[in-house]
Amino acid sequence: MAALDGLPPLRDVIQRHGLDARKALGQNFLLDLNLTQKVARTAGSLEGVTVFEVGPGPGGLTRAILALGAAKVIAVERDSRCLPALAEIADHYPGRLDVIEGDALKTDFAAMAPEGPVKIIANLPYNVGTQLLVNWLLPPSWPPFWQSLTLMFQKEVGQRIVAQADDNHYGRLGVLCGWRTKAHMAFDISPQAFTPPPKVTSSVVHLTPRENPIPCAVDKLEKITQAAFGQRRKMLRQSLKPLGGEALLLKADIDPQRRAETLSVEEFCRLANCL
Ligand code: SAM
Repeated sequence: MAALDGLPPLRDVIQRHGLDARKALGQNFLLDLNLTQKVARTAGSLEGVTVFEVGPGPGGLTRAILALGAAKVIAVERDSRCLPALAEIADHYPGRLDVIEGDALKTDFAAMAPEGPVKIIANLPYNVGTQLLVNWLLPPSWPPFWQSLTLMFQKEVGQRIVAQADDNHYGRLGVLCGWRTKAHMAFDISPQAFTPPPKVTSSVVHLTPRENPIPCAVDKLEKITQAAFGQRRKMLRQSLKPLGGEALLLKADIDPQRRAETLSVEEFCRLANCL
């Protein structure tokens, strides 16, 4: 039976193009088009929006993004085996899908960003996803060329992204994301929804840029969070010793006996600004 968009079911596409999932490329495909639509809808309205999709694979999420009305999708995929399947989708939606064969980690998304609204949507291998997220929060992608990021992660990584002070998952990633974005967990996806199923539950995380992040130099903030969370069980006067220890903490008006995971993003920025 054909899917609602008139294209063949993904299972047939995968079989016809011999797209057996490769572990080395982190390939766990979402074949349920209702679920891919749910992921795409998390990005909000796509009318008039250019979407950068990373890792389209056989195109389940790509089809959902196009069916929901994105003006254009620019998709970066590393696995050349997927290109013929993606070309069929491009034929079905003339002029609305460009596929770039390449490594997303080496792609300059900011340079490719067109005029008008851009959103980023991706179901990526987890290691690549975390690095890309960090890249999208730093120059040349910051100030952001994108309106939102809708990304799928291993649930534990998602928890680290949205974590705030006094949360077990709070760490360097949570401080960076909390500083520059508002991040929230949209929903979980069970392993059984994927082909083949991964070992753990996934989460879709949605991030939008903060309009006025606290002014702070990113390299100093990273220095502070690296030292503080490198020894997260120790008091800050100990873990921050190489950066000024107690004197630095007192200058920033922070009790030297506190531990890293109790500090708010604002307090980390204050420390970075005193460095
Ligand atoms: N979006 C599809 C879906 O939801 O079913 C596929 C998701 S699968 C988890 C990850 C995809 O990312 C695969 O198609 C894989 O080939 C691709 N990929 C892996 N590493 C990549 C990289 N560095 N750059 C671009 N694509 C990559």
